Amino acid sequence: MSKMQTKNVPFVDLRSQYQTIAGDVDAAIRRVIQDTDFILGEAVEAFEEDFARYCGTSYAVGVDSGTSALELALRAYEIGPGDEVITAANTFIATALAITYTGATPVLVDVEPETFTMDVSQVEKSITRRTKAILPVHLYGHPADMDAIMDVAARYELVVIEDACQAHGASYKGRPAGSIGHAAAFSFYPGKNLGAFGDGGAVVTNDEKTAAALRMLRNYGQKEKYHHLVHGFNKRLDTLQAALLDVKLKRLDGWNNTRREHAKMYNGFFKSNNGNTVITPPSEAEHARSNYHLYVIQVEKRDQLQAHLQREGIATGIHYPIPIHMQPAYSSLGYPPGAFPVTERTANRILSLPMYAELTPDMVAQVAGAVNHFAMTETAAESGEITL
Ligand SMILES: *Cc1c(COP(=O)(O)O)cnc(C)c1O
Repeated sequence: MSKMQTKNVPFVDLRSQYQTIAGDVDAAIRRVIQDTDFILGEAVEAFEEDFARYCGTSYAVGVDSGTSALELALRAYEIGPGDEVITAANTFIATALAITYTGATPVLVDVEPETFTMDVSQVEKSITRRTKAILPVHLYGHPADMDAIMDVAARYELVVIEDACQAHGASYKGRPAGSIGHAAAFSFYPGKNLGAFGDGGAVVTNDEKTAAALRMLRNYGQKEKYHHLVHGFNKRLDTLQAALLDVKLKRLDGWNNTRREHAKMYNGFFKSNNGNTVITPPSEAEHARSNYHLYVIQVEKRDQLQAHLQREGIATGIHYPIPIHMQPAYSSLGYPPGAFPVTERTANRILSLPMYAELTPDMVAQVAGAVNHFAMTETAAESGEITL
């Protein structure tokens, strides 16, 4: 067999993204430096306006990270000690930490095996007198079943905060992710679909009072300088980051569409693999349009596949290897192993493949080819056709 020309495929490639926008980025950053407009400067307001419009909401409030966006959104709705917030067991730790920071208790529910988003049928069973909010996570950029979630929330008078930290530009039934709940949190961590040169985040909402509360909470609890109404924080979005993010926001739809094309290509390669051993992400549907923050497959021998890809120079990730309730930090929640079977089973089967706009079709083919080669060899070995 002749070996095709291959090169190393990184998991993300922020350098090649920067090279496509360097002129605009450098000019935007230079402007902030020349104006020495570093804290809550003009570019923050401009970006907030643009990002709110992008999300189809009335307001966006820039903060210093996605974690802060989640925490301050919960605080804006006065969630705190004694309250319970329902979220998904398979999420990044920050979702749970933000709840913990407010003094409230995270209550976990399992996820759907197909989409990895909150299993809404379990939400209602978890509601108690203390429940104040539901915090669905649009994991990997695939929107959670928001109609069902909003319906439960309305019946029990609960607040819904979307964790849209992976979902910039995703949509649910034609509505942008982040525009459906009472408020939504976004992260601009560098590797996110819209990423800063450092940490950053934003809360979006249609509620004017919530937006006003968030502006106070991020800025020492002041509305007017040196007049402090609440115990606020220093959790502002830097002007430098806002200026950069505004440059990137203009390209976001284009980048997301390219990711969707890569996902289609991956899907095609894996469907043609008759062994049927590679389970692909849920396919594009009008009701839930992913931004493919991550392209996550499921395979039986995940660790072996990951090692195989590593040998081929292909970097992969696992999001996430240890569910929240199995983390030492959350042993105090008291969930036993087996509490969330879908989450626990998939944690051992998931593998995130390289996914970013700057991937080339050749790189997608190379990654898919390496995965399929491994899967076919495994299938053949199991059926006794060949021995490894
Ligand atoms: C990235 C992320 C966060 C946290 O965002 P930071 O900006 O890293 O604080 C929260 N939730 C999810 C689902 C994330 O992916």
